Amino acid sequence: SKTAYVRTKPHLNIGTMGHVDHGKTTLTAAITKVLSARGTGTFVPFDRIDRAPEEAQRGITINIAHVEYETDTRHYAHVDMPGHADYVKNMVTGAAQLDGAILVVSALDGIMPQTAEHVLLARQVGVDHIVVALNKADAGDEELTDLVELEVRDLLSAHGYGGDSAPVVRVSGLKALEGDPRWTGAIEALLDAVDTYVPMPERYVDAPFLLPVENVLTITGRGTVVTGAVERGTVRVGDRVDVLGGLGTDTETVVTGLETFGKPMESAQAGDNVALLLRGVPRDAVRRGHVVAAPGSVRPSRRFTAQVYVLSAREGGRTTPVATGYRPQFYIRTADVVGDIDLGEAAVARPGDTVAMTVELGRDVPLEPGLGFAIREGGRTVGAGTVTAVA
Ligand code: GDP
Ligand code: MG
Repeated sequence: SKTAYVRTKPHLNIGTMGHVDHGKTTLTAAITKVLSARGTGTFVPFDRIDRAPEEAQRGITINIAHVEYETDTRHYAHVDMPGHADYVKNMVTGAAQLDGAILVVSALDGIMPQTAEHVLLARQVGVDHIVVALNKADAGDEELTDLVELEVRDLLSAHGYGGDSAPVVRVSGLKALEGDPRWTGAIEALLDAVDTYVPMPERYVDAPFLLPVENVLTITGRGTVVTGAVERGTVRVGDRVDVLGGLGTDTETVVTGLETFGKPMESAQAGDNVALLLRGVPRDAVRRGHVVAAPGSVRPSRRFTAQVYVLSAREGGRTTPVATGYRPQFYIRTADVVGDIDLGEAAVARPGDTVAMTVELGRDVPLEPGLGFAIREGGRTVGAGTVTAVA
């Protein structure tokens, strides 16, 4: 029989944020190098992170690189995103799922526009803890670096992050990557700061179970299996669950099997990638975009209000405004559904604007305030938003 999955350390999702060229990818590679020397990770070189292929994740084509590593106390999935548009898409739709962030600021350049925007985005999407890596400290002048540190603390305070108490660690991703002991020590200090300053997000585990379905498979003789990442809560073999998707096939069933990476497990929790075997659910009654959730915990609906950022042309968005009556595709969790927008009195939104809108979807989808989504048109992302209220 297969070896069961053993959970040894709590799991968190973190990521690097900050202005282009401030050293996010170099730092990410350096972290994996330092931890591989400690024996709790695998070194991922710069080239492999920076040349991450475009992945289809949660139905949105996004550029995102994941690396995994462990400290003494925790298991981390760490995301590094190449461009500013990727931050907007991944953070606003919740695809990045950050429990905490490492804000990378070059000690040579200080705060730049994307530094400030990422802090603002982090606040909007509910990232509550930011640890600062003052990078390129190898090349920086001490007094100038002191000034940059003050400036960063002020920026954090301006967005409610407690700039006085946030850890600010002077690092050199580049020198640490070269194995310079002074700077590998600085990376250790940064990781200790992340371990102690970013708390475990217990709310996800305590919330009612929800899994957005990414894939559906049939295992001959056993039945229908759905796969995906647990968004919140926990689930055990034997639990009753609802399968919801707005196709008129919503059904209540029982989880009869649970696996992660091919290993059986008794209980899965928020953040885990799992396969659920569902009792008596026909193959065509569930598909990508549905959710499996604790009975009665979510309600599909088709009308909601949202706050939406319309991507600028520079970010790959539209060159022309959108108006009431515009009918793009909405990517909500793993669902892909058409929707009509109503901009109310504003009537028109230009690329680069952040606007309030009412959306009428083509079918019912499980929705709730705070849920992120992307807006796509002709194969590209043109907007990113958050549900503010469900009608
Ligand atoms: P990203 O765009 O934020 O991911 O930045 P990269 O990691 O691609 O780094 C941008 C540039 O800064 C590259 O030329 C790096 O070699 C350089 N760089 C990164 N970290 C450091 C550092 O700690 N010290 C110095 N001197 N240069 C660095
Ligand atoms: Mg990079």
